[in-house]
Amino acid sequence: MNQLNRSYYGHLNVWVFLALFLTGCATAPKPAAINPAASKTPVYTGLNIIQGPTSQGAEPRKDKITHLVLHYTAGTLPSSLDILQGKDRAHKVGVHYVLTDEPNPRIIRMVPESLAAFHAGKSGWADTTSLNQRSIGIEIINLDGNVHSYSAAQADMLFTLCSDIIRRYGIRPENVVGHSDIAVGRKVDPGSLFPWPKLASLGVGAWPLPEEVKANLAKPRTLPPAEIRQLLTVYGYHLEAGDAGLKLGLEAFQRHFRPSRIDGLADPESLAILQALVRRYRSEDLRKARLQRKV
Ligand SMILES: [Zn+2]
Repeated sequence: MNQLNRSYYGHLNVWVFLALFLTGCATAPKPAAINPAASKTPVYTGLNIIQGPTSQGAEPRKDKITHLVLHYTAGTLPSSLDILQGKDRAHKVGVHYVLTDEPNPRIIRMVPESLAAFHAGKSGWADTTSLNQRSIGIEIINLDGNVHSYSAAQADMLFTLCSDIIRRYGIRPENVVGHSDIAVGRKVDPGSLFPWPKLASLGVGAWPLPEEVKANLAKPRTLPPAEIRQLLTVYGYHLEAGDAGLKLGLEAFQRHFRPSRIDGLADPESLAILQALVRRYRSEDLRKARLQRKV
């Protein structure tokens, strides 16, 4: 056990007693024992990763890993670690990694990547539902990522961890998502202050090409609600029916891609960004969707 681990476990009991907050993200187990050797061998470069407490919120993985899901815990490190151990049998929770909020953030591993962790809950993205089986989940310590900025140190460490996972599993940019993307109207993490643009500029996650957004804005079009719904759906969002469902979908989209105003309204800038995103990552899916509608 190294120095960090001794320090970490030495504080754990104190943390448990200090656990006063519920994590907002973590909405919901006995864990399978962690067996790092059973997982696809991670090759971390320059990361400060320690083995944390195991989580009950995990099960054997049956599907290939194709998605990466980001969260904030809505709690302090002690309270978050307590909840994420998933001891509440009625509320199964678990996650692969927790990124701390310390000046020199650490990554705490709770569930091996070979297991599916219960971090996504009811969820859907494009043709995938129930993302737990197909994803790696990362929880970041932040009380509210819609209010409190993520530190530069957290963003740097997040980039290194995410890019390593993305490389090992060949995860596509558009499948690097926030909990709010895959649980529309139910979740708001990792929040409007999450550093999506910075991560995308370094190759982690999707982002529209600026020149395409600019070109779209130069020729703004008003789109009927059915077409906006189709663009959001083709990009990945699972929407409830009706105007209310569309508004929630636009809010989730804005929280990720246009966080300066999250109001669920289809303003020209939001539409320009959405169209540029679909064109960059989902043009073939859009072509198929349009063909199906004509049939
Ligand atoms: Zn979450």
